Amino acid sequence: MASIKPSLEFKRDLVEFGANTFNQCFQCATCSTVCPLSPEKDPFPRKEMLWLQWGLKDRLIRDPDIWLCHYCGQCSQHCPRGANPGETMMALRRCAITRYDWTGISRRLYRSVWWEVGAVVAVGLLVVALFALSGAFTPARMVTTRVAMGTFIPVHWVHISDWVLASLLTFFLLTNSLHMARLMLDGSKPPWSVYVRQLKVLLAQALVQAKWRNCEKPNRWRKHFILVTGYVTMFVLVMFFLPWLQVNGPRFTLLSWLGYYAAFAILYYSGDAMISRWRKREEMHRFSHASDWMFLILLFLTALTGILVNAFRLLDLALPAYLTYVIHLAIAVPMLVVEVPFMKWAHLAYRPLAIYLKAVKEQTRELEGAGRLRALPMATGISAGIGAPAVYSPRSARWWIRFGGLAGGGPSGGAPSRRFQDESHANQR
Ligand code: SF4
Ligand code: SF4
Repeated sequence: MASIKPSLEFKRDLVEFGANTFNQCFQCATCSTVCPLSPEKDPFPRKEMLWLQWGLKDRLIRDPDIWLCHYCGQCSQHCPRGANPGETMMALRRCAITRYDWTGISRRLYRSVWWEVGAVVAVGLLVVALFALSGAFTPARMVTTRVAMGTFIPVHWVHISDWVLASLLTFFLLTNSLHMARLMLDGSKPPWSVYVRQLKVLLAQALVQAKWRNCEKPNRWRKHFILVTGYVTMFVLVMFFLPWLQVNGPRFTLLSWLGYYAAFAILYYSGDAMISRWRKREEMHRFSHASDWMFLILLFLTALTGILVNAFRLLDLALPAYLTYVIHLAIAVPMLVVEVPFMKWAHLAYRPLAIYLKAVKEQTRELEGAGRLRALPMATGISAGIGAPAVYSPRSARWWIRFGGLAGGGPSGGAPSRRFQDESHANQR
């Protein structure tokens, strides 16, 4: 069980992550009222603003609601105090990403733009060095009379490297996600049947961002969805069909058309997002953290260089095709290494997982309420006794009774715990 300690350092941290107006909030609740995604039972973002003012770090890091927000900006638009709850939720997500990451890399990258730029440049140079070490820049390999991509860099070398890289990134993203799940479950142990039943929520979120569709600005959902289809298509093509794509000369197949679709979708929508951030007309793009720019620039350049490689290949311009290919990978690889497990792109795993875990916890509470799952206090989110088991089982109940659950603050009474006092206080908002 987490202890709740106010943290001034956390409040200072949040300023670095982009939230510097939260102290202006006077708890009017306009934001929670206008938010199209805020549920009636457990609304946000007002409670997060309050918790942040109190410096309740542990509670905020464990809060799945920060991921329910899709940053439409309505709350910030209507906030009478200019406290900017939308950007505050965004800053909380950035901060949460650094806390889920057990390596500490994310924290360094988010807190210093120089670290982020340095990491991108270092990984990019490593890619160029690997090309050089493989002998790709020698005259024998750089055939100039025609485009010979397979001679310049054998396709199976690239393919194997893709799989090695994907395995590494999956390892970090998965372990960080497990850490996040442990934080959010906060000691409670929902039954496995509930996990299975709520898998539909996970799938709906991961595949079509189902919650976001309730937003009053469907256009944004549509744009994001097309962007997602773009990079998912590209991922599938690169991981499973690379030998059919990295060919010489003009060839138009279904796979190559899918590749064009993916590249243009990424190029168009990342460009569109950059223009919107530059103009600052839409509320959600008025404030940009350095990491937002870095992500969009890398995504845009990856798509642009990928299209150029293909254009040079079709035009049979050998040298430009080879060099652009090296540049393409020297941008794409660092983007994946930095963004997928440690920065903004990690939201592709964290958001669906947070929404899923919230659904799991809610259903567990419903079952407890209906008496179909005999709950001991901790499972309801209220800790009434030290060591009270999260979910009822005869064995855990016996242990709990024997070792003082009833003597302390168990279901039969006793002084409420510190956590209970915190909960009660925060809920009297
Ligand atoms: S963030 Fe703004 S709208 Fe929300 S409770 Fe605070 S003052 Fe009110
Ligand atoms: S930005 Fe939009 S989704 Fe997020 S809390 Fe504000 S109103 Fe709700």
